[in-house]
Amino acid sequence: MFRIPESIAELGRERLKGFPVEGFVYGEGPQKPELLLIGEAPGEFEAVDGIPFIGRAGKELMKSLDSIGLTREDVYITSTVRSRPYKWGEKRERDGTMTKRKYNRPPTAKEILAHAPVLDYEIANIEPKLIVALGNVGLQRLLGKDAKVTELHGQLLERPVQFLPDLDSTKFEWTNKVYRIVPTFHPAAVFYRPSHRPDLEADWLAIGEMLKRIGDGDNEI
Ligand code: URA
Repeated sequence: MFRIPESIAELGRERLKGFPVEGFVYGEGPQKPELLLIGEAPGEFEAVDGIPFIGRAGKELMKSLDSIGLTREDVYITSTVRSRPYKWGEKRERDGTMTKRKYNRPPTAKEILAHAPVLDYEIANIEPKLIVALGNVGLQRLLGKDAKVTELHGQLLERPVQFLPDLDSTKFEWTNKVYRIVPTFHPAAVFYRPSHRPDLEADWLAIGEMLKRIGDGDNEI
């Protein structure tokens, strides 16, 4: 099992102090996994338990892994931001009273920048056969704002990725190293857009085929 050093986790916590986020979820999986999966940010269940993708989206993700003969233990699962971004909203109870509760929201650009060193560390130290970007937040963190899941899903891309060159910087730079990346939909996307399901399933089968082709050789490109 690979785990980021505590100093990197502490840096991530520090850099998000004062933001409307909660919890801190470590990435999870082997140092040489079949896949490195990069999601968006934890939801409520993940933030409480500190385990990535254990909620509804997680169940969907496990189905995708199962469709190509993989389990959670075969992959390293992480996300662009490690703390749950929330916003306050009102919920109507059965008896008609209104109660305040926290809702999930996508991470902001500042939050993504704040946690960039955490993901950069993982990308630099984990040696997957392929990186799978789950949704636009993860994909654009790697390849920049112009990259769109709807255009690139299911394709094998061999590209440098963005990293933060130093802690004070607010601009990403490009790695010298080239990575193998396959974009696909975030597992929660099919809840909002069931019409994406056939594409999502086909992408995962394509990922399975790519893994077979890469085989057990060196993970370096
Ligand atoms: N979405 C993510 O990106 N990560 C999780 O852990 C859960 C939902």
